[in-house]
Amino acid sequence: MYGDRRRQDPPSDYLLKLRQDSIRHREAVLRSFQPLQSPQFAAGDWAAGARATLELMAQGVDTIRQAVLVTPSMVGDVQLVSQPDLLVKQPGWSCWGNWVYTPIDIKLGKKPKLDYQVIAAYHAYVLSRVQGVWPGESCLALRGGQLYAIELYRLVPKLQEILSACLRDLRSTEAPELFIAHSRCDLCHWFGHCYSEAKATRHLSLLPGVTPARYDFLKQHHITTVATLAQTNPGYLAPLPGFGEQVAEKLVHQAQALLDNRAIPRTAPQAPHGFPLWPSDLPEAEVELFFDIEAAPDQNLIYLHGVLVVDRVSGQESFHALLAESRGEERRAWHDFLDLVHAYPHAPIYHFCPYEAQTVRKLGQNYGTASHHIDALLGRFFDVHKCVTDGVTLPIESYALKHIARWMGFDWRDEGANGAQSICWYNAWAETGDRTYLEAILRYNEDDCRATYHVKDWLVQFSQPYWERLYQAI
Ligand code: SF4
Repeated sequence: MYGDRRRQDPPSDYLLKLRQDSIRHREAVLRSFQPLQSPQFAAGDWAAGARATLELMAQGVDTIRQAVLVTPSMVGDVQLVSQPDLLVKQPGWSCWGNWVYTPIDIKLGKKPKLDYQVIAAYHAYVLSRVQGVWPGESCLALRGGQLYAIELYRLVPKLQEILSACLRDLRSTEAPELFIAHSRCDLCHWFGHCYSEAKATRHLSLLPGVTPARYDFLKQHHITTVATLAQTNPGYLAPLPGFGEQVAEKLVHQAQALLDNRAIPRTAPQAPHGFPLWPSDLPEAEVELFFDIEAAPDQNLIYLHGVLVVDRVSGQESFHALLAESRGEERRAWHDFLDLVHAYPHAPIYHFCPYEAQTVRKLGQNYGTASHHIDALLGRFFDVHKCVTDGVTLPIESYALKHIARWMGFDWRDEGANGAQSICWYNAWAETGDRTYLEAILRYNEDDCRATYHVKDWLVQFSQPYWERLYQAI
């Protein structure tokens, strides 16, 4: 309402793709609810939309698409408007007679995440004010075809909390305090604006591990700056709800690392010399493999196994892109991957985050690879992300590969490349047949493998003095 819209970011390719996917999904769901009736009104005229919707509801039509529901009375000085994707007539009693309406919201996600559920509860709340009775349920039509009924008794108190905070913010002339949460903010068109403000003020939300709930507790204890947090005794924070010893130590280290721009080894009670990384976590071998997968989740397709083979004896490095150019080639790409890793039977396989290991297990099941082969293969997997988060606190905003490797001095060849963009590139390749999209994906994937290699070597060097001290003590 109050922001200067010229400061909004343009939508990314990935956001545009999500919007397109969302429209397709919505149309597919709506086709299964035919016949549908829609209120007729000029775009943006909510009052006319609400009147037209009321007429359809009073007539008792079976299914109403894109209804406009408006609370008959004001909530304070605000009128609540909701636009559920569908209203479906059910037996029951409402102000019109022996029928009630149930709202259904159509969402692209596969899981009924809390944000969706709160919105579904909101539709039910506004609908209850319009038809004089609460609907028996409020549903989400999710990707994958399932209809999910939310638990209204559980969601309504949460909705009330959010609604009053929202009304308070809308009435205020001050902008609400921003809080950067990458999971929510990354797709928001205000991100560039909010992020630069957060950077300028060194907002605590930029520290990994500072969640909204923890931030509230920190504020209650007057810890609102990185400098104050860096000076806080972790023992003071540990008893707070949602903290505990490990989180408290990590948060204080995080602030100290940021202030001094340095890496801080994590202390762990189980490690006699205060460093939880062991040589066995990062084994060195004559040949090491660095592995990264690219997938198109919307097509349920694993289309690229990228493997960087590093021969430490000869000093040679070779990148292998085991690519499925279409869905029909996924099996062949999987077998090419197995052939490659079996050609280096003693090489450790480094990857970043659990996704690669989970996907190998899944592909093994899908393509009938013997489970003992998969178990043996996974026994050679080492998760570099886990080693970083277990072993060290870094002055970064996120423990994603990009942030970690960049801080350690590694750079990607394509500035704008990321996982979301590679999904768009693969779609563009499928639609146009233009191989430059595939080349961009391969370059990005190879750089991810090389970044994992860079981080692994950095960790080995960083932890070397600690291991030497440990050996001397033994
Ligand atoms: S804080 Fe995040 S979600 Fe809120 S407006 Fe800013 S970028 Fe968007």
